[in-house]
Amino acid sequence: MKVKVNENCIGCGACTAISDVFEINDNGTAEVVKEIDEKEEDDVRSAIENCPVEAIEEIKGEN
Ligand code: SF4
Repeated sequence: MKVKVNENCIGCGACTAISDVFEINDNGTAEVVKEIDEKEEDDVRSAIENCPVEAIEEIKGEN
């Protein structure tokens, strides 16, 4: 799966606590910092569900 963080991000840090796929960058918002392997997908889905502003989007049609 592939995801991106959109402009809704408020930098709350919830996703970074759930998965190290996400890090807060110098702008104070989250970004995806690595490829998501299969064993990380559950955590990434959990991060999507737990983001308070729905800022994490799955990019469909890509692995
Ligand atoms: S959980 Fe959502 S709002 Fe919080 S840092 Fe991650 S993407 Fe941004």
